[in-house]
Amino acid sequence: MKNISIALDGPAGAGKSTIAKIIAKHKNLTYIDTGAMYRAIALKILRKGIDVNKEKSVQDILLVSNIDLEGNDIFLDGNLVTEEIRTPKVNNFVSHVAKISSVRMKMVELQRNIAANKNVIMDGRDIGTYVIPNATYKFYLTASIEERAKRRFVELRDKGFDTTLEIVKEEIKNRDKMDTEREFAPLKKAEDAIEVDTTGKYIQDVVNEILQYLK
Ligand code: C5P
Repeated sequence: MKNISIALDGPAGAGKSTIAKIIAKHKNLTYIDTGAMYRAIALKILRKGIDVNKEKSVQDILLVSNIDLEGNDIFLDGNLVTEEIRTPKVNNFVSHVAKISSVRMKMVELQRNIAANKNVIMDGRDIGTYVIPNATYKFYLTASIEERAKRRFVELRDKGFDTTLEIVKEEIKNRDKMDTEREFAPLKKAEDAIEVDTTGKYIQDVVNEILQYLK
């Protein structure tokens, strides 16, 4: 029997990970947070103070890095980094790392390996277009920039970060721009993806909307 795969793409703050986790539980699927993988390698590059413009240095780091997803946790070289990858510092740096093709090649290989022989729901930017182009179901989640910024601002404020809604909005806009405009596997709705606008909707209503399509 063919494995089931659900691709869930969209810009920052569209609600992808929240929705994916609930659907994973509901349908007994493995959840793969591909953004966390890019964040983990970005964290390592930040910690080491490596210049992202020096591709050889980045490649060297990739060779000696281990990234593992276990449930909703992520490990970098065996150490838990689930919290640390979600700081504003990583938020603002990750897209610079994610546009490097050698980084993407390694992450995509890892993602495809994790997904092999499993029923998965994978969220990211290029899942339906590049990582699993023949996914069983493809969804593209969107929401207005105001709402996406508000969601991220509340998240950061609740974690104790000192920021403002305006700053978060600018950061999200910059990240979306970089993710959309990069050359290799940019953020884009797959032609055959179902678009779901989550603006003003309750989480459960979005979940129900998506569940409707899953047989
Ligand atoms: O989903 P999340 O906001 O955690 O993703 C962080 C960043 O990782 C994105 O802004 C993007 O630069 C990168 N990313 C990517 N491709 C994916 C998932 C994330 O380029 N499939």
